[in-house]
Amino acid sequence: MIVDVHNHTPRHRVAPEQTTAALDSKWRPDKAASTVHTWDEHVRALECVDRAIVFNIASDPRGDVPDDGQLIYETPRVNNDTAAFVQAYPEKFIGFLTVHPFSPDALEEIERGTQDLGLRGIKLGPNYQNFDPLGPEAFAVFKRAEELGLPILFHQGTSPVRFADLDFAHPRHIDRVATAFPNLKMILAHMGHPWQTDCYVVIRKHPNVYADISANFYRPWSFYNAMRIATEWAVLEKLLFGSDYPIVSPQETMDALWRVNDPIAGTGLPPVPIDPLERILHRNSLELLGLE
Ligand SMILES: [Zn+2]
Repeated sequence: MIVDVHNHTPRHRVAPEQTTAALDSKWRPDKAASTVHTWDEHVRALECVDRAIVFNIASDPRGDVPDDGQLIYETPRVNNDTAAFVQAYPEKFIGFLTVHPFSPDALEEIERGTQDLGLRGIKLGPNYQNFDPLGPEAFAVFKRAEELGLPILFHQGTSPVRFADLDFAHPRHIDRVATAFPNLKMILAHMGHPWQTDCYVVIRKHPNVYADISANFYRPWSFYNAMRIATEWAVLEKLLFGSDYPIVSPQETMDALWRVNDPIAGTGLPPVPIDPLERILHRNSLELLGLE
C-alpha cells in the first residue's frame, strides 16, 4: 500500500481550449513546473500509488492577497472542486477541505465540507493564506478540527510567493498548536524545508504530529542532510510519503528515495539507512490519520 498524502486538486475537469498553463521555474530548482492540470493528467500521474489525499487552498476573504502563488484558486467553491474530483474516483482519492481562518463562515464551511461534501481533513497554508497560526482565528479552526477528528495538513517552510510572512509557516509554531490540541492529527508538509530540524523536534515530542517528505529531493544535498538528521533524531517513523503533485510527481519522489545517498558516494559520510525509507513509502498514513 502506497499513500501519497500531498496532492493539489486539478483545476480543470478537461483541458480548456485556451490553455493558460504556463511552466514556471520558481517552484523547483531542477525544472519548470505547472500548477494547472486536468483530472486525466492527475489520475495518470497517480497510477503508481494506491491512495492519495487532494486539496485546494482557500483564498483570503480580506482580499489583500494577490494570487501570485497560483495555488490559491479564485473560485469561492474550492471545496466543491475537490469533492467533485474525489467523487469521480472514490477508490483512489480522499479529499481535504480548506478554509480561511479569517472567513466569517469558516466553521460553517467545515460542517458543509465534511457533512455535505464528504471531505475528511483540512488543508491550510499559513503563508499562502497570510494568517498567524497562533492567532485566535486559527485556533478556532483547530478546535473544531480536533472536535470532529479532522486531520490538518499544513504547508510548512519555504515558498517563492512574496506577499506573506515566511515565519507563519515555520514548524516551531506547531509545537504550541499541538500542546493546545493534543488530539489533533497534523501533517507538517515538506518536513518544514529548509527548517527540517525544527520540524523534527516538533514531531518527535507530539505523538499526533507527522511530516511529509514531499518537495525535498530536488535539492539533493539538502535531502540527504534532512534524511540523515531525521535518522539521528529518530523520526524516520514519523515521516509520510507525499509528492506535492502537480509540481512534483509521486514517481519522481519514489525514484529519488533510493538516490538519497548519491551525494556522499565515495566519501566517509554516514549513509541514510534504506529500510526506513521502504517503510516511509509503504506506511499506511490513512490509518495513522484515522482515515481508514
Ligand atoms: Zn503542496
